[in-house]
Formats: sequence, C-alpha cells, structure tokens
Amino acid sequence: MPEPTIPPPAALPLLVDGARRPAATPDLLPVVEPATGRALASVPRGGPREVDLAVSSAARAFPAWRDVPVPERAQVLFRYKAILEREHEALAASVSRENGKLLEDARNEVRRGIEVVDFACGMPTLAQGRTVEGVARGIDSHTWRVPIGVVAGICPFNFPAMIPLWMFPIAIAAGNTFVLKPSERTPQTGLRLAELLLEAGLPPGVLNVVHGAREAVDALLDHPLVRAVSFVGSEAVARHVYARAAASGKRVQAMAGAKNHLLVLPDADLDLTVKAVMGSAFGAAGQRCLAGSVLVPVGKAAEPLLERVAAETRTTRVGDPFAQDSAMGPVIREDARARVRRFIEQGVSEGAALLVDGRAAPGAADGFFIGPTLFDRVSPDSALAKEEIFGPLLATVRAGSVEEAVALANRSRFGNAASIFTTSGRAAAYFRRNVEAGMIGVNVGVAAPMAFFPFAGWKGSFFGDLHATGEDAVRFYTETRVVVERW
Ligand code: NAD
Repeated sequence: MPEPTIPPPAALPLLVDGARRPAATPDLLPVVEPATGRALASVPRGGPREVDLAVSSAARAFPAWRDVPVPERAQVLFRYKAILEREHEALAASVSRENGKLLEDARNEVRRGIEVVDFACGMPTLAQGRTVEGVARGIDSHTWRVPIGVVAGICPFNFPAMIPLWMFPIAIAAGNTFVLKPSERTPQTGLRLAELLLEAGLPPGVLNVVHGAREAVDALLDHPLVRAVSFVGSEAVARHVYARAAASGKRVQAMAGAKNHLLVLPDADLDLTVKAVMGSAFGAAGQRCLAGSVLVPVGKAAEPLLERVAAETRTTRVGDPFAQDSAMGPVIREDARARVRRFIEQGVSEGAALLVDGRAAPGAADGFFIGPTLFDRVSPDSALAKEEIFGPLLATVRAGSVEEAVALANRSRFGNAASIFTTSGRAAAYFRRNVEAGMIGVNVGVAAPMAFFPFAGWKGSFFGDLHATGEDAVRFYTETRVVVERW
C-alpha cells in the first residue's frame, strides 16, 4: 500500500476589504509548531502587491471611519472585548501552539491584550482635547485629537496576541484605519484577532492583514499612503524601520531589543527573589523583551542566591507547552536554539562558570527544546553580558556595591527594563533614580506596565518619541489640531 500523502497545510489568507483573500504570490513560508517541528500552516511571503491591496483598502475606509462618532467606535470595541472573553481559551491555545510558550503564560498574554481593548474603549474620554475660552478678546482656542489616517503595525513572534493588541485597538478607536503585519513565524493568532474584530461589527477595510517578512515590511515603510508605523521587534530591524519610515516622513515608534539586569542585594527576601528571577529569566523560554538576562548579585548576596537559582534551574521541567507539569516550553525555531548553544560555547571558552548547562536537558523529540542555562562569573565585557540572546540563558556578573551594579547595568546599550531585589528603601530609591532603563521593577522580576501606562523602553530598546499603550499611544495615533475661533 502506498503511504497516505498528507496534503500541505493551507496558505493563510490576507484580510482585505473585510474579507479573506488569497495572496497573489506563490511564495510560501512554513508556519512551524515549535514544540513538535510540524508545519501548522503556510504563510504567503507578501510584497508590494499584497501590501498595496491592504493599504488601499485601509485608505478607502478611512474617510468614513474617521466620521463615525467616537462613542460608536468605542461600541465596536466593547463588543470586541466580549468576543475576546468568549475566545480567550482558544486564542491562548493558538498562541501556545504557534509560539511554544506555556498555555498558562499564553492565557496571561491574551489577558494583557484584552486589557488594551478595555483601555481603548475609553477613547471618548482619552481623545478629549482642551479648551481655553478667551485666549484674546472674543477669541476661544481648542486642541483636538484627530486621527492620522492609515497606520501600519509590524509585529514580532514572541507575543502573537498581546503585541497586535497593543496597536490596532487604540489606533482604530482613535479613528484610524490599520494594516497589521503579524510575524511570519506566528501569523495565525493575529489573523484570528482581526477576524474577531470584524465579527464585532467593524466596517470592511478598517482593519486589514498582510503577511510576509522583510519584503512586506519594506513595502509598508515605503507606501505613500501609510502615515504612521508601529513596530516591535529586534534592535537591528527596529533601527532599519525607524530610519526608513522616517525618511519618507512617517511617524514611527519602534520598540526594540533588550538586555535587562536583575540586581539582588544581600538584604533581599530570598524566596521572593528566587521565584521572581526564575520567572523573569526563563519564563517564555527567555523570549520576552522584559526577560532578566543578566543577574547581578551584590556582595554577599551571590552565594546563597546562586545556590538556590542553580537548584531551581537544574530541576526546571522543559516540555510540551500544553502539559500541566511543564515549566518551560521550546524556543521558536532551530536557529534560535543554535544561537543559545553558540552563546553557551562562547561562555565556556571565555572561562565563565557554567553552573547549569541547558544543552544537557532532555529535549522532547522534534521540538526546538533547550534547557535553562545559568552562568556565573561572566565578564561584563563578554557578549553574554552585552548581547540580547533571547533564549533561556542567565548570565551572572557579580558586583561589589549597588553603585557598581547600577553602573554595570548602565553600560548596556539597551534600556528596556531593570529590577532590584532588596528590603532597603534607600537602595531601591538610588536604583530607581539612577538606572538607565524605562521600566523599573522593585522586587518585581518582569516590570510589565498595565495597558494604561506606556511601555517605555529607553536607549537602544526604543526608537521614536511616543511609546506603545497608555496616553502615549493615544497621542501617537492622533494628530493635534489647534482651533482658534472668533464669533
Ligand atoms: P524580528 O526583528 O526578527 O521581527 C520583527 C518583525 O520584523 C517581523 O514582523 C518580521 O517579519 C520583520 N522583519 C524581520 N527581519 C526584517 C528585515 N530585515 N527587514 C524588515 N523587516 C524585518 O523580531 P522577532 O525575532 O520576531 O522578535 C523578537 C525581538 O523583538 C527581540 O529582539 C525582542 O526584544 C523584541 N521585542 C521588543 C519588545 C519591546 O517592547 N521593546 C517587545 C517584544 C519583543
């Protein structure tokens, strides 16, 4: 009997003018399940043609959507919120499947995304301008927040639900129309999120989805009808996106890579600290832009801390993201795993102390599994201490004082997040004031802002002026109009 042939997985459609539509390109990329290595789907490698379809659809929809009264726009988002609650579990499963993070982690991710929708429902209040009656005799003046036009959103793989939800709900509530480009490695969740917003009654063309990689991104950056670009991804691509979009006069916010330091003082609550360090370094297999990747024990904190963290790291169960007893899933692809392995080899060759070797962890058969890895005595000049690895590798660089530890963190070209663990208010205050990072944790390992605060990376972790979410996002997705009137 011949082997039954398995049909290749279907290519994902674009979403244009409110309908699914096949891409013109025959060029397809596989969407692979990180836990099994199996192909889940394929995604068209869109380029200028696909992008033009999506952007034109958004541009046609803009004038009518801008004119929809803001409370009515908000009503669509209230309905969307209810639909997302209904679909919470299915969306979390979609995130786990295509990204590989634990199901519980994916549930939390979807929750954080829904919180942005909650925030965007407040647009009638958020978009309010200001008025001064009587700026001169008989003259009043107002500021209004008006939508910009077509906005493009370009997303990374590591939060397939939350990061698209950072973008389009706020942009659309503010009266813009939107083209979403999910990561080509995790495109299914973003597409589903967009379809659910259509179900909530969004008019056709207000939200479109285009797929692809570099070619699609460049086409969005160059398209004359795109007025603003929200980007989240790696540092090199963020620099490219920022420069290229700004060169054609677009408004840009580009959230980029990170190297986050976790400082631990000798007076820290050890139980709390160990739990927080483990979650920060190895949660989502280290593939979070808020992941702590450099552990900085100060003075006598090192020995007891490393003993506990090493023990926990050694016993972390790596496996199926859907299994109740897994503590960590796979990384996204083979190249990501190979990158972590290369950094481990480099650390060893540089003479750092490899306390726990993730290469030794039993990996599930065909998935991209690698165990959590812990190094001690890493040189601050080593690439392990400086480069974003984006995997489950925690490098320890010891410091003699809190001042030295802060100075070490400040040598980083990144400035996304930093945390301190201490019971000293004085040390925490010194840290909060002096560390060069936009998101600060005090006895918190993942300093993730809620939706009504900005996601506020600094230095090489962010290119632009206005950050994602919170009031920053409302300002990013609106122009200020000043009206001066005499009657
Ligand atoms: P990535 O830069 O590889 O991809 C991001 C997006 O850019 C994708 O949509 C991809 O298609 C596109 N892209 C990739 N290469 C490109 C190129 N050469 N030219 C134009 N477009 C290109 O990032 P990733 O691996 O998907 O995501 C992980 C990165 O994202 C990490 O560096 C992480 O720190 C960062 N991140 C940052 C934040 C933040 O808020 N600062 C949040 C999440 C993730």
